[in-house]
Amino acid sequence: MNFSKLKKIRVYVALLFFVTTLLLFLDIIHIIPARLTPYVLYFQFVPSTVKFFNQFSLIASGFIIVLIATILFGRVYCSSVCPLGTLQDIISRVALTFNKNKFFQMLRDFKLLKYSILTATILSLFSGSLILLNLLDPFSLAGKIFSNLFRVLLIPFNNLAALTLEQFNIYRVYPIELKALSWIAISFSSIILLTIGIMSFTKGRLFCNTICPLGTFLGLTSRFSLFKIKIDETDCSGCGVCQTVCKAGCIDNENKKIDYDRCVNCFNCFTACPSNGIVYKKSLQSILLKEKKEIDIDKRKFFTRLVIGVIGLSDFLKAQVKVIPKKKSTVPVFKNVYPSPPGSGSVEHYYSNCTACHLCVAACPTHVLQPLFLEHGFFNILQPFLDNSAAYCTFECIRCTEVCPTGALLPITVEEKTKDQIGKTIFVKENCIVETEGTECGACSEHCPTKAVIMVPYKNNIKIPEVTNEYCVGCGACEYACPTIPYKAIYVEGNEIHQIAKAAPQERLQQEIDYKEEFPF
Ligand code: SF4
Ligand code: SF4
Ligand code: SF4
Repeated sequence: MNFSKLKKIRVYVALLFFVTTLLLFLDIIHIIPARLTPYVLYFQFVPSTVKFFNQFSLIASGFIIVLIATILFGRVYCSSVCPLGTLQDIISRVALTFNKNKFFQMLRDFKLLKYSILTATILSLFSGSLILLNLLDPFSLAGKIFSNLFRVLLIPFNNLAALTLEQFNIYRVYPIELKALSWIAISFSSIILLTIGIMSFTKGRLFCNTICPLGTFLGLTSRFSLFKIKIDETDCSGCGVCQTVCKAGCIDNENKKIDYDRCVNCFNCFTACPSNGIVYKKSLQSILLKEKKEIDIDKRKFFTRLVIGVIGLSDFLKAQVKVIPKKKSTVPVFKNVYPSPPGSGSVEHYYSNCTACHLCVAACPTHVLQPLFLEHGFFNILQPFLDNSAAYCTFECIRCTEVCPTGALLPITVEEKTKDQIGKTIFVKENCIVETEGTECGACSEHCPTKAVIMVPYKNNIKIPEVTNEYCVGCGACEYACPTIPYKAIYVEGNEIHQIAKAAPQERLQQEIDYKEEFPF
């Protein structure tokens, strides 16, 4: 049987998954319907698993199909579906273009490191924390790179194209404001891209076979796979070319062995072999039991101690976190809880289901969703929350709830969204310019879509804001519009558990200027 076509098919499938996923993150003008997102991301293993256990729904069963495919054929997810895997392949390909004489070698198997990371990730999941998935899940890492680097880099190109086309009276492409950049997310994503870039440029899929906990898990699963790549000793001429093209570094040509833990089913060896020495064979042999003994009890104890150490350290770090005021003011304002996005239901649900892939960050039209650093503790690092210093949440928008692949944000209707109270407003009279400067303002009331803030008579015939929180949805339009610096006179404190806001009476809604006509930002 001729297996050489397998590589071609694999490359086309990988490019299809990669390009469609990338487009979701790079859709800066929001032309891709958000309802397509679940179909595009259906097979993404970690988001699908988190969503499945969150919703117990077959709609999120993509990871089961991936598991079945792994049991049948090996790590096909790593070579065809994973966007970070394809990104590494593209970098490896660039490396080969730069150095035509480059070839891969059999790599050392870093068992202790990879099993430590997998054990720590599983233990942290059992302890209720997604921190290691947030930092190591390949889809989330790719998402951070796409959202915080590629998307940000695309905006100047978009604007240049818009300006150029404008000269020819073409207005289909329009300029986008480059705003609300999260330098923490940009720095983190740059470090990740640099690290993975160097690893894949020099050693192919080294990241997948040492750091990635999903790669290690699928590697263990693929030991049982029904079909396996094998070196057929009768046809193999022993030239060793398969070893030089194996980007997983898993072919031991001398001993005619392939390490199935590390083989990512890229099929390079099939096309490279000049003598049909590589075959894809049915195999019922289980090698798990034989090799299982290698992970001795002492190592397990070490993993456990390592994880407990990490958790202990994290608690220590969390205790040390203090939100430092950025600027001075008369009455300093601190947020205890940033509002979790609409559809998350509660901060707790959000903490335990968001893998920080940053797809919602890319999808949010106002950029109010910002990856936070330590504001919500070490365990929730880089999970996006609403940051009203950056923007506000559009009243009738539900885009983030439509794209979230893990179920951290559950789908809600526009009607439900306009009542989803994600936070409550706090008015600090001592910071308000009506009080400090004795002048009219009312920016908060003007921009409040629910009229939870209205202006009521105060001293010297001027009016001052008054908040009725039962009408407030916590969108932060008031906070964003408030002109006081450095501290706001009105700000939103997130609700630990989302509440349902009441609709304000008609006369109250008509009291102020219609925000839809006057929204200036
Ligand atoms: S043995 Fe190496 S080259 Fe062949 S499919 Fe596996 S990873 Fe690819
Ligand atoms: S609902 Fe709010 S947070 Fe979510 S995408 Fe829309 S504006 Fe952004
Ligand atoms: S009071 Fe502020 S946060 Fe509440 S609904 Fe109005 S603008 Fe939004």
